[in-house]
Amino acid sequence: MPADESVYSYSAVLMGSPILLKLFQRDEALAGRVFNLIKHYEDLFTVNRADSEVMRVNRAAGREPVTVSPAVYQLIKCALAASLPAASAFNLTIGPLVKRWRIGFQGDSVPPAAEIEDLLTITRPQDVQLDDARRSVFLARKGMEIDLGAIAKGYIADRVRDLLRQSGVEEGLINLGGNVQTLGAPRGGWSIGLKKPFAGPDALAGAIEVANKSVVTSGTYERYFEQDGRRYHHILDPRTGYPLDNVLDSVTVISTDSLDGDIWTTLLYGAGPERGLTWLADRPDIEAIFVTKSREIILSSRRHFRFTLLDDSYRVIDCTA
Ligand code: FAD
Ligand code: MG
Repeated sequence: MPADESVYSYSAVLMGSPILLKLFQRDEALAGRVFNLIKHYEDLFTVNRADSEVMRVNRAAGREPVTVSPAVYQLIKCALAASLPAASAFNLTIGPLVKRWRIGFQGDSVPPAAEIEDLLTITRPQDVQLDDARRSVFLARKGMEIDLGAIAKGYIADRVRDLLRQSGVEEGLINLGGNVQTLGAPRGGWSIGLKKPFAGPDALAGAIEVANKSVVTSGTYERYFEQDGRRYHHILDPRTGYPLDNVLDSVTVISTDSLDGDIWTTLLYGAGPERGLTWLADRPDIEAIFVTKSREIILSSRRHFRFTLLDDSYRVIDCTA
């Protein structure tokens, strides 16, 4: 979108991520309510501090069920449903491996293979037991840990959208560091940059134009470290315990709810473009943009967005063409 003085941007750092809110009217009070809402959910979901509702569930692993608030229960239930199918790369119980690798945090290193093998025994989603009547969560094995890092931002982006809508906002945007949710279509649509992997922070491979849609990107280029000439990024393969290794640099999902976008970026990252495209054939509500290491940009479809290539070193493959 061209620079426009009537756009008011509000920013903060929450959940270890840069947060950006865009409105078309000046409204500090509303921005404050948005940031407080995000903080509220961060306090419930975080596993990066000793205490949160999710950490209470984790600390009681192998001991007892823990009753949680409706939002935490709903999100854990949703994350479990995404984790149970055999072909799913999504795993809400990936926590012990995330904590051991520490990718994106100080002290990251490649763990010994034997340790990874051991940790795989406590990362089985089948060992999560839910009780709807009590709204309780029980992790059946000691040492298990739920990690909602691949889904919580999606949930929160949708709640921010709801708050903005209830507050009468017709056009607005929230970016939770890779999870973008939009309201309305200022000047025909919002333009969201598709980042060029492993380039500068402002380098774009393309632009995605949407209205009233969420745009979520999962990439290997934001949180990673290098050791002995190899790169290790933060999306782990629940089958091996190591970072998922395939042809992809990133996956972007366009959907109505950011929750779906967050789940599907992880699912599609794990599936890879070939299998991912067959899954998407049954889901007209989910569209994806795969960016491969060999500089292809694969568009699954183009029902709800427009795409503009901004970097000629990439080749666009449009599966609808
Ligand atoms: P996605 O690709 O959507 O998710 C990747 C993340 O999901 C990984 O970082 C890991 O946490 C988890 N994961 C890895 N593999 C799998 C898998 N196979 N299945 C399911 N999940 C997987 N970052 C900080 O640096 N400091 C903080 O204090 C901090 N606090 C946070 C608090 C909250 C409530 C949330 C939601 C995030 C926080 N983060 C923080 C960021 C967090 O550590 C992740 O890096 C971030 O959520 C990744 O989001 P993404 O959209 O980039 O990646
Ligand atoms: Mg995700």
